[in-house]
Amino acid sequence: MANGCGPPGWGAAVVCGAGMAGLLTARVLADFFDRVLIVESDTLPDEPAARRGVPQGPHPHGLLVGGQRILD
Ligand SMILES: Cc1cc2nc3c(=O)[nH]c(=O)nc-3n(C[C@H](O)[C@H](O)[C@H](O)COP(=O)(O)OP(=O)(O)OC[C@H]3O[C@@H](n4cnc5c(N)ncnc54)[C@H](O)[C@@H]3O)c2cc1C
Repeated sequence: MANGCGPPGWGAAVVCGAGMAGLLTARVLADFFDRVLIVESDTLPDEPAARRGVPQGPHPHGLLVGGQRILD
């Protein structure tokens, strides 16, 4: 475990979906589990691009300052 405070015996976590929620969840879990597996139905592109599993992706999105601070 990265910081030694994860649940004993829980070496791996599985997250379903590599959207914003899944990626952020995986990032937090990585501090507590040895391995984090993200199960995603899409093939993830190397560059930011629209994909089938996130049909809202091409729509304009706003990010509030509070959200940006958390992401940073
Ligand atoms: C038109 C529009 C405008 C919006 N504007 C804003 C905005 O300005 N600001 C804002 O904060 N929010 C906005 N939203 C909302 C925001 O887009 C969603 O809240 C956010 O994308 C949800 O993220 P998520 O990670 O929960 O889900 P998603 O982004 O839907 O990700 C789900 C992931 O799970 C994967 N998946 C699905 N099923 C499976 C499966 N069976 N097995 C494996 N993987 C699977 C998908 O491929 C996808 O990668 C907007 C939404 C819309 C539609």
